[in-house]
Amino acid sequence: MNPVPVPLPANRRDTRRRFEQWVKHPGCGANLVSAVHNVKMGAVARRENPSAPKEGQSSFALARGRRFEAGLVADNGERLLRAMSARQMFDRPDPHFLDFRISINGGPLADIDDAIAHTEKFLQVLARDRSFEGVVSSATLRIPKGVMLPEATLIIDALAVTMVDGRPTISVGEIKTYADRGGHTSKSDLAHARAQMGLYVHALALVLEQLDLADDIVLSLQGFLVLTHPGSNSPAVRVGEDLRYQAERARKGFELMEAAASEMSDLVGDDDGEGSTSLFDMVLAAPTSFADACLSFCERAPTCYAKAVANGDGAVLGDDVDRFLNGLSLRRADELLGGARPRNDVERDFLRRMKNPLDGVS
Ligand code: SF4
Repeated sequence: MNPVPVPLPANRRDTRRRFEQWVKHPGCGANLVSAVHNVKMGAVARRENPSAPKEGQSSFALARGRRFEAGLVADNGERLLRAMSARQMFDRPDPHFLDFRISINGGPLADIDDAIAHTEKFLQVLARDRSFEGVVSSATLRIPKGVMLPEATLIIDALAVTMVDGRPTISVGEIKTYADRGGHTSKSDLAHARAQMGLYVHALALVLEQLDLADDIVLSLQGFLVLTHPGSNSPAVRVGEDLRYQAERARKGFELMEAAASEMSDLVGDDDGEGSTSLFDMVLAAPTSFADACLSFCERAPTCYAKAVANGDGAVLGDDVDRFLNGLSLRRADELLGGARPRNDVERDFLRRMKNPLDGVS
């Protein structure tokens, strides 16, 4: 059996991971600076605490993912096209395949700039010459807004092109190695994949607008997932993934991130170009805000938790307690419950709710 080439991880300029990281806890200033400036939180955690364990996906899982994707697009995308055709995704029996992967990922293109140029050129040609129906692997977008300076680049695993009422229609697809178990597929895995696809839809809408192609190319709000069949590496395609909500969430997320990034630059200043040390320091200097979500994704969670405990921050008992305390520290709540006189409306309100916990519950 011929070995399937296993490409290296996607180019670092892929912005998706950073956006997804920020969305997990938008309220943390350090998380924002880390995402905007592409400073890995794991590296910050180890700088803060050199004995912090090195976390990450298992190398086995990563290698399996790369092998699966490489196998799908090998031989002009034969396996991918066959699996998609089996779901009646194309009218023509011989759909086209274009490979915009870059060389470090096993593809024919030189680098990310080359992939962006090819993708833009492809969209411009598609708007005029409507003969293409098929798949583009690794279509690469540069998001026109400068939210995540210095780069805002997304790589779409698979972009399907079909003709609907004579107009080219594009829909985004995401490739994952987990098994399609029908109604029993992990809900969180599916939610994560849909969130990624919603981000692609939003980015494509921006790019089509920027290229003045929004009237010529229809952007579908339904995506597709390429998963595996249980117990094998053969592809299982799920079509009709509704991305309306996810695309809107991405749009709002970008706006919030832009506003937060500009506020943050007032507080911590922009990258002064002196290299990674200043960027690490910016993340370390930014305010943190420990929350339940931190435990699931951020490698600084143990340190931020310890800081929150030292500060008597109610978040250490969970987001619900933190909301209930409405800004009061655990120490102050304890004093009030021990009989201390309330000093302001927040403290009076806290005591009132402690005495009548069902107040305001309908
Ligand atoms: S663990 Fe700390 S740095 Fe990471 S997101 Fe939470 S509060 Fe922010």
